[in-house]
Amino acid sequence: DDDAIWSSIKAKKVVVLGGDGFCGWPTALFLSELGHEVVVVDNLSRRKIDVELECDSLTPIQSMNERMRAWEGVGGSPIRFVYMDVAAEYQRLLQLLESEKPDAVVHFAEQRAAPYSQKNSATKRYTVENNVGGTHNVLAAVVESGLDIHVVHLGTMGVYGYGTAGGEIPEGYIDVLMQPGNREARILHPMYPGSVYHATKCLDQILFQFYQRNDQLRITDLHQGIVWGTNTAQTVKDERLVNRFDYDSDYGTVLNRFLMQAALEYPLTVYGTGGQTRAFIHIQDTAKCIALAVENPPKSGAMVEIFNQVAETHRVRDLARIISEMTGCEVKNISNPRNEADENELVVANRKFQGLGWSPITLQAGLLDEVVNIAAKYKDRCDVSKVLPSSFWNKTRLQACGTSQ
Ligand code: NAD
Repeated sequence: DDDAIWSSIKAKKVVVLGGDGFCGWPTALFLSELGHEVVVVDNLSRRKIDVELECDSLTPIQSMNERMRAWEGVGGSPIRFVYMDVAAEYQRLLQLLESEKPDAVVHFAEQRAAPYSQKNSATKRYTVENNVGGTHNVLAAVVESGLDIHVVHLGTMGVYGYGTAGGEIPEGYIDVLMQPGNREARILHPMYPGSVYHATKCLDQILFQFYQRNDQLRITDLHQGIVWGTNTAQTVKDERLVNRFDYDSDYGTVLNRFLMQAALEYPLTVYGTGGQTRAFIHIQDTAKCIALAVENPPKSGAMVEIFNQVAETHRVRDLARIISEMTGCEVKNISNPRNEADENELVVANRKFQGLGWSPITLQAGLLDEVVNIAAKYKDRCDVSKVLPSSFWNKTRLQACGTSQ
């Protein structure tokens, strides 16, 4: 139990960009519960993409207004909501910062699915314009506001690439001797994006580095693993607060697809040998890590603070085995649609968050709750055609949606 670390925090004003999304909503609630004043900004683009893809969250998520009413109904402090496109409405964003004068902006407002970003030229271009444009607007607006606002951004473990066998992945930087001249330098870890989506997170990093050096902005970039779990201690307070659960092949992560397949009593489809190792974190821990980051801004003038926001790593076949043992479901290997090695090692440093007192929820401890209280409970809302690879992953589909993160 790490509750002790929250007892001495100072109340702040926090703007949560993308606060209607899967990570953003539970984080907004957690920050509110800790006593922070929270303003959510979102253009509801994720809900609109559901309409475009003809799928929906497995869990019955409510409108922002209903969510805010429900939060106040369970005794939460009011959360305000501003409908705004961060990438397209620069002047409104600037005005918001100038009038609210937040201590921190938490930036989730990006298109986050690798498969969606790889679908076609339109989704590639949208992902770059939305993500890079939005991040740059946030940075330029903080500078133009003249306020000392701490920017906390959600990045991804995917910036490191997965082919980094043979050593621990450090938290953001590596120390090198540059040739010629043997100059010592601390530089960003080399970036190997595996999709247009991941490339936008690499470009975000360069923008952060520049704005930190040029304008002395205080920036924290969180290299997050795959987030699993649906509810948190806050979202279970009322069913209208429920968080989204994506299970389709564009937005559903590998774990959610396995959970859905198990609930429907279909075999769990493992790509190739299932030897790909991935990093994971529970949604409650996402919220906690962000609260810790908000609490611990880097000093003015310090390099961009980078944390690996990861609790544990697992091979995909081991995930399938754990879920199969819990549910009795079969495991089926299918050919890997992703452009990646079948087997990879992944050892990730996460000492910085652990050093701040964080002790993560593990898959072994928390997975059964997902099996019973989410996948089984809402399985009647599932559109089977979105989860079953046999009806869905033909050759074109394999090329277009070749990833599980
Ligand atoms: P999500 O799609 O559920 O949430 C993103 C939210 O941002 C949505 O509500 C969307 O409507 C909003 N948004 C997008 N573009 C916007 C814009 N231009 N203006 C205003 N709002 C906008 O995604 P998520 O899973 O909550 O991810 C949040 C962040 O965390 C993303 O940046 C993602 O890259 C990162 N992340 C997520 C995971 C994961 O497993 N979910 C893993 C690593 C990193």
